[in-house]
Amino acid sequence: MANSADPPETLLTIGAFARTSRLSIKALRLYDEIGLLAPERVDPSSGYRYYASEQLELARLVAWLRRLGMPLARIRQVCAVAETDGGGAAREIGEYWRQVEADTAARRELADFLIARLCEKETPMAPSTVTPLEIRYAAASDRGLIREENQDAAFAGPRLLAVADGFGGRGAEAGRAAIDALRRLDEEAHVDEDAAGIEAGDLLNVLQDAAARADRAVRELGTVADFGSTLTAMLWTGSQLALVHIGDSRAYLLRDSELFQITEDHTLVQSLIDEGRLTPAEASSHPQRSLLVKALGGIGGDRVPQLHVTDVRAGDRYLLCTDGLSAAVPAEALHAELRQGAVADPAAAVRRMVELSLEAGGSDNVACVVADVVVPDQTLAA
Ligand code: MN
Repeated sequence: MANSADPPETLLTIGAFARTSRLSIKALRLYDEIGLLAPERVDPSSGYRYYASEQLELARLVAWLRRLGMPLARIRQVCAVAETDGGGAAREIGEYWRQVEADTAARRELADFLIARLCEKETPMAPSTVTPLEIRYAAASDRGLIREENQDAAFAGPRLLAVADGFGGRGAEAGRAAIDALRRLDEEAHVDEDAAGIEAGDLLNVLQDAAARADRAVRELGTVADFGSTLTAMLWTGSQLALVHIGDSRAYLLRDSELFQITEDHTLVQSLIDEGRLTPAEASSHPQRSLLVKALGGIGGDRVPQLHVTDVRAGDRYLLCTDGLSAAVPAEALHAELRQGAVADPAAAVRRMVELSLEAGGSDNVACVVADVVVPDQTLAA
């Protein structure tokens, strides 16, 4: 007569199941405890765990997802979906991996920045060779020709340059709140008086905090998560411009007659381009080209901003703008207009940028800031 403690012939012992699934016995015990992979049967007297061979497929999936570095809570989610919907589980894994790559990209940027910063410390510039610089700036925003209200906002002060593109039900308030949350940076001193450079870590922390403050300010406007804002802002320290950026507004640098886009677009189409699934040409006419993957406010979990610090040079011209300009006017046209000489000063430049947006149809709101880096004495002669 079979003892009730004997396992049914068809079940695998935890040892056999561990070997076949390539999960350790210790891991299997843990997965049972957290409800990720419960054994088919637990012997009531001995407490031994027994597994059905049909459970191997799920166990292997768990093992592979662990190798991918996926956290257990997330694995549980994928496995629950996988039981009934293989395609849904595939999408969950794709979503997880996109997030990993975005985090890695953000960390790579931070690593590059720290490497560059430490290399500079190795070969510091002699104080006498450092030329004091200052910025001249102007900001402008316009409702455009179609939209009923202006949800874009722009700000330019002695230390802070910023544009924001609000969207959704409370978009106008969101854009303003994002910029207002940063405005105290314009009053606080983050200026390196001796031009020796502010500690990089300090500056990054200041920006990170500013982005978090802006995000909170936008969220506090309402509980329904159907609105938000982009934010692209630069903080002037006297020798450096530090950037904080989230969304699809842009920052450009005109240097040595070349125009560089400093920001990355946090849009769905840009992720598809990065993955090689879309060409830039296809992206510009994609029906969901303005769909954001990151923004301040309520459009999802990932709100890690792009942070960046650049050493400026006399003659640099910076443009911050919302997509009312950059999506409507080709970069070549912006480049031609921004070249030194075409528009003499920042005030004329922002007026011209708004005109370009309106000439292109004015279908969206527009906001822009232009800042020129100049040697103080020469500004009077210019
Ligand atoms: Mn816009």
